[in-house]
Amino acid sequence: MERTAAVLPATPVPATASPRKVHLVSSRATFRALSGLATARGLHRDPSGTDLVVSEVDAARLDDVAGIVHRTEQRCGGFFAFDTRAQAEAFLRSDRSAQAIAATAASYTLDNRPTVDHWLPQVREARIRDTIAHLSGYQNRYFASPAGKASAEWIHDHWAALAAGRSDVTTELFTACPGCSTQPSVILTIEGTTLRDEVVVLGAHLDSININGGGSPGQAAPGADDDASGIAVLTETLRIALASGWRPRRTVRFMGYAAEEVGLRGSNAIAQAYRGAGVDVVAVLQVDMTNYKAGPVQDMKLITDYSNASLKVFFEQLFDTYMAPMGYTRGTYTCGYGCSDHASWTNAGYPAAMMFEAGDPGGSFPYIHTTGDTLAMMGNTAQPSVKFAQFALAFLGETAKTRAMHTGGPLLPVTAP
Ligand SMILES: [Zn+2]
Repeated sequence: MERTAAVLPATPVPATASPRKVHLVSSRATFRALSGLATARGLHRDPSGTDLVVSEVDAARLDDVAGIVHRTEQRCGGFFAFDTRAQAEAFLRSDRSAQAIAATAASYTLDNRPTVDHWLPQVREARIRDTIAHLSGYQNRYFASPAGKASAEWIHDHWAALAAGRSDVTTELFTACPGCSTQPSVILTIEGTTLRDEVVVLGAHLDSININGGGSPGQAAPGADDDASGIAVLTETLRIALASGWRPRRTVRFMGYAAEEVGLRGSNAIAQAYRGAGVDVVAVLQVDMTNYKAGPVQDMKLITDYSNASLKVFFEQLFDTYMAPMGYTRGTYTCGYGCSDHASWTNAGYPAAMMFEAGDPGGSFPYIHTTGDTLAMMGNTAQPSVKFAQFALAFLGETAKTRAMHTGGPLLPVTAP
């Protein structure tokens, strides 16, 4: 059911917003934490009953917003950001999260074990570690910095190289995001063979931020766990699927999202564009922070909120089928409003879900959004991410399905369905 948003202006403002302001949509709790920084411009209740606030902050203070969300809520994301209040209000009016959370229309099946079992032993910790090391070697991947653009372009080129020789694979830089500054999102598409109009998405954000960086393009923000680890997991997943000569039935899109840390901007721009074009996205996996585990904690945590009910059940089935036999354990984590890029897809009405790292008994990664988010702080290993690549491969094989797979010699052409 479509719902009509009730956005109640709290304070009269000029019709045209200042370009020096950023307009946030956050939970009421997050807004309260921003007291003094953000000015309320509207109140709203989202379809799942969360009280939201449209507020306005100086663009120059956006890093402080991220920092406060980080300190008070110990997480990435936490809000959506827009250039104008009109955009923020339009976003709320078109909120499809209630349908996306409750929808049970999508039918997910576990019947592609040969493909997944072939893939799982091929995950290499060293390859994941190499990608994290490269990405965390940039000064930062901040959305408004030259390094933020260069690192995104490196991901594009690296993914394109993995797909060399495959005429059914394309890569693009997605730049139709007015709030993403010079940072593109990266999209790699493997064309589906028999169900090409049905799209499976695997995503992670490619940007990073330092909460003490003050918005400087030169800030130090290695972002090894948050979220070079997620990009590295996707990269290893892609490498293995392509190396096996795999051709999916459904179309698959690997995505590196721009500007997540400043209000889920890249993923929201893509999800809204897909909604506008009527793209049939059947499942979205989000991987954001996969490489930290310390102490006696469950290996993987299913995010419980702003996710699709059927897809969450399917994630549990995937885990129990492929991960539990290897000795891994699962738990759950409630992440809050606008927690990561899955929320963009949920808002646009698509089924999305997320698996999160184990963390430690005290909560999540203690060095998030600081200069301490390095491989060294995680013991110079990517071992915790191996199981996320395995989970991503299981998700990939079981949602996109297998049309053809070739593990040696020249790839045979795929003929009619
Ligand atoms: Zn993150």
